[in-house]
Amino acid sequence: MSTDNFKVVVLGGGPVGLTAAHALSRAGIDFVLLETRPTIVVNAGASLVLLPSGQRMLGQLGLLEEINRLSTPLGKVQRFDHQGNDIGDFHFFVRMKENHGFDPRVISRYDLTSLLFSTLPAEAQSALHPNKKVSSITTTSTAITARCSDGTSYTGDLLIGADGAHSLARAFIAPTAPTHPFLTTFRILWFRFPTPPSSNLFSPGTATETHGPGCAIQAFSAADHCAVGLYERLPSPTRERVRFTPEEETEVVRRWAHLPISPGLTVGKAYAARIQAGLADLEEGVVEEWIGERTVLVGDAAHKFTPSTGAGWNTGMEDVVVLVNELVRRMKAAVGVMGVAELREVGRVYQEARFTTVVGDCELAGRMTRLATWGSGVTRFLDRWFMGSQRVQRFLIDKGAQAVARTPVLEFVEVGKMEGGRVPWVGRENI
Ligand SMILES: Cc1cc2nc3c(=O)[nH]c(=O)nc-3n(C[C@H](O)[C@H](O)[C@H](O)COP(=O)(O)OP(=O)(O)OC[C@H]3O[C@@H](n4cnc5c(N)ncnc54)[C@H](O)[C@@H]3O)c2cc1C
Repeated sequence: MSTDNFKVVVLGGGPVGLTAAHALSRAGIDFVLLETRPTIVVNAGASLVLLPSGQRMLGQLGLLEEINRLSTPLGKVQRFDHQGNDIGDFHFFVRMKENHGFDPRVISRYDLTSLLFSTLPAEAQSALHPNKKVSSITTTSTAITARCSDGTSYTGDLLIGADGAHSLARAFIAPTAPTHPFLTTFRILWFRFPTPPSSNLFSPGTATETHGPGCAIQAFSAADHCAVGLYERLPSPTRERVRFTPEEETEVVRRWAHLPISPGLTVGKAYAARIQAGLADLEEGVVEEWIGERTVLVGDAAHKFTPSTGAGWNTGMEDVVVLVNELVRRMKAAVGVMGVAELREVGRVYQEARFTTVVGDCELAGRMTRLATWGSGVTRFLDRWFMGSQRVQRFLIDKGAQAVARTPVLEFVEVGKMEGGRVPWVGRENI
């Protein structure tokens, strides 16, 4: 394969952009990554749940041991209603472990981005440029250029838009499409507070959910902190970009302060001990067009889920795997550097491979948020009685297990033997 003279510009250094940096580095493809924030490693934002499919890919990159050290495994999820009544545990995570051999794990964004940064080879680290806000994208017949607000510019053959929900790359691909293609029905108050010392209520690995009309809570306890996400339904859905003020955050806390996160621990008490917090809108949707001239979207730029199933970053990682696999495949076959038509074909194959799965995952995440927030008597009944059944939970997880087992892996990276469960990973023999 010749990767000579081929260069990728990655726009955005969030979790998906950093995953792209790893994949491109492993493929031996030259790249530059541009990130508007002042640092690549971020010490802010909600913690993330890492699903077995994501762990499999991180295992391929040789990061699993470190991931296991930095994150906390999650098992049974205890569920309560707004009055603190037991509404039946979720055993989804337990079944995932049985099926695939990996416990879902919770990790802070700081630990995650530190790890993704520090494990890149020195040469790849030097290709990551913080403090680079890309303000425009232009193409010629032979190249694509990202211009930054500081006057610098970076040119390559392909631009990977990993620039999140308010993507500039997406606007470049479809300039006449709505700026905000996603619909927002919920907002989320997320916060982290220190794991209570010697608490048997919220010890590391504890996971809880509180469900009820208009509001649901998810809480996961890691070794040193607990991560809470409080979902609140907006008065009406909107396609506007919503920015919240500190007063609105206080108002959300005031409204739901009495709700239990676990027995003896309310939202108000946990929020008062917060280390960090934020209020964010939860856009939902999948854009139709992921590819344009020398440009392709990955992660939240292409699709935005509610976090109820912990799938956003995990899905973005899969995008990167499929895209870079296809890029490498085409490079092997190409004579000389790939042109516009060949790159569009790479994008087309990639989007086709991902689209249906991503639409399904987005709908599933939204459905779980709607069930947990009891918008009607029917959702309340389904959530309380149907979803509370372990038999139903096992059925639902097992229904998707074959698809999880077929999660794409990098075709050009060797790995040793990986943990498995009762549903063998597919494609392991190929790597
Ligand atoms: C409260 C909450 C909890 C979540 N929990 C989970 C979970 O448990 N598991 C999970 O898998 N997912 C979870 N998610 C979703 C997950 O955070 C996202 O799916 C993931 O961050 C997407 O990564 P990304 O790199 O595509 O986009 P982003 O994280 O949005 O990163 C985009 C990056 O691009 C940069 N950028 C944007 N525009 C420009 C520009 N013009 N120039 C230069 N840089 C630019 C931004 O600064 C940013 O760093 C959660 C989300 C929220 C809000």
